[in-house]
Amino acid sequence: MTNSPAPHANRVAVVTGASSGIGEAAARRLAASGAAVALVARRADRLETLAKEIERDGGTALVLAADVADADAMRAAAAEVEAKLGRADLLFNNAGVMLAAPIDELATGDWQRMIDVNMTGLMNAIGAFVPQLVASAAEKGVADLVNTSSIGAQAVFPSFAVYVASKAYVTHLSKNLRADLGPKGVRVAAIEPGLVETELQGHVTDAGALEWLDGVRETLTWLKPADIAETVAFLTSLPARVNLQQITVMPTAQV
Ligand code: NDP
Repeated sequence: MTNSPAPHANRVAVVTGASSGIGEAAARRLAASGAAVALVARRADRLETLAKEIERDGGTALVLAADVADADAMRAAAAEVEAKLGRADLLFNNAGVMLAAPIDELATGDWQRMIDVNMTGLMNAIGAFVPQLVASAAEKGVADLVNTSSIGAQAVFPSFAVYVASKAYVTHLSKNLRADLGPKGVRVAAIEPGLVETELQGHVTDAGALEWLDGVRETLTWLKPADIAETVAFLTSLPARVNLQQITVMPTAQV
């Protein structure tokens, strides 16, 4: 499969967080290798522009402006994908938000936002699309659920406890979902990137965290979103028997 020029031909890929960063790059990459892509995020204008670019390059894209924290909206999105593109057989479950929230400042709104998007939103997408993934795997022999975790799932980052804990949830959930979905032909993977140049850090306002981010920006070369997109394309085009379950992708100089 990996040697084919269009290894994702005849596949229907749903990408959450497709309006910027890693999700946008993954949507472009999967479309370029033949998948019809469904683009999920809240910023409809960004998704429309991306869809036009994908279609200009010969691909197929469907815009689904939705908040992943809204379970009804995600179920409606899943129905629209099935009706317009056919059953999804790949979910790149990637939407996320990172806020620095030093615990003693009790920024409970920021805690809740990370839980709502990174955990509840992730589950809403899983709930909406797993029936299609299972049915696709039964029909085609394989389907993919790829969740975006973070190196934070394995590490300690001061001021980011809630964020990294939400990502530890993603990694451990992914490992456990393999027990339920692997026997049904659905591969489950968690990708744990280190620092990637995206809009993610733009939401951080805490002075100490900003100082740390500025420091690591100056001293090392960060990954690009395309690096993670390539990883997604690789693991979802392996032979059906191969499930890379957990992949940590680090900038070479990040320790
Ligand atoms: P970006 O901020 O560039 O992208 C985040 C995406 O998530 C956007 O498309 C945004 O779209 C979407 N999103 C956020 N909230 C919601 C919501 N409520 N509903 C739907 N979509 C939402 O950052 P990245 O590309 O870096 O982030 C992608 C993933 O990678 C995240 O899960 C992040 O935690 C993870 N990650 C990133 C790392 C990095 O260094 N950049 C490192 C490790 C992991 P919109 O605002 O339009 O809704």
